[in-house]
Amino acid sequence: MDAVIPGLLQPRPTPERACIVNPASSWPCDRGIQVAELQAVFWDVDGTLADTELEGHRPAFNAAFREAGLDWHWDRSLYAELLAVAGGRQRMAAYAAMRGEALGDTRLDQLRALKQKHYLTHSRSGAIALRPGVARLIAALQQAGVKQWIVTSSGAASVHALLTGVFAAEGHPFAGLISADDVAAAKPDPAPYQLALERSGVAWDGVVAIEDSEAGLLSASAAGLRCLLTPSPWEERLHTRLRNDPPAGASHPAAFEHLGEAEAPARQWSGPPCPGGVVTLEYLQSLLADGN
Ligand SMILES: [Mg+2]
Repeated sequence: MDAVIPGLLQPRPTPERACIVNPASSWPCDRGIQVAELQAVFWDVDGTLADTELEGHRPAFNAAFREAGLDWHWDRSLYAELLAVAGGRQRMAAYAAMRGEALGDTRLDQLRALKQKHYLTHSRSGAIALRPGVARLIAALQQAGVKQWIVTSSGAASVHALLTGVFAAEGHPFAGLISADDVAAAKPDPAPYQLALERSGVAWDGVVAIEDSEAGLLSASAAGLRCLLTPSPWEERLHTRLRNDPPAGASHPAAFEHLGEAEAPARQWSGPPCPGGVVTLEYLQSLLADGN
């Protein structure tokens, strides 16, 4: 049965909105449209900031297999299939079963610990690149003074390793982090985004969440947030749906193949038209307008 994707397959219900108009802003209040000022962007990490599954977790699994003396190797296409199994430990157990091999709990725990060690080392080394347009948009938001928070279902250690590798000496621009260590319920539960709203002190109608998955979209939507979707490469079902049955109308969340660069515009599947295929601060602001 298809999962329901609020706001993607059907118009997003419009909750009661207390519209905040910033009198200092010349946009778009001058046009008489009541919108909240963009105050914060909440970033998902895995699949949104970077392709951490294929470029991070996959090589870490392979390094763990080598260190443990297993002759296993997960290439990109095999790993994309294995992602149907949630959780690394369960994924290794399922693959062992596919091969007709049995791994005991102790062996699985050892492999999981080795894999985590390699993932942290790999991430800190800067080997995982940001997705197209991410560095550009982060810099623009930082320059404009828009708060940026991380809202992820990953553990804090994995996130800090990635941020260290990507931003190195200059330091990362995020004002706060909500990780799996902070909430009892992971996405698609709204708890991570609700906690981010509480801790950041930002009103919900001044926030855009950027996500790559159905679970992330559900979580952000349930917290009442506007959400821009950039499906990650392994979200095949989402890609297929957007490709074959793109939702029509401006009332749906904006969905792009990535955030876009001037020299590499992103394909857009839904949401208000984005000239040039490059998601900018101004475009995120436009998503806060009533009717979007
Ligand atoms: Mg994600």
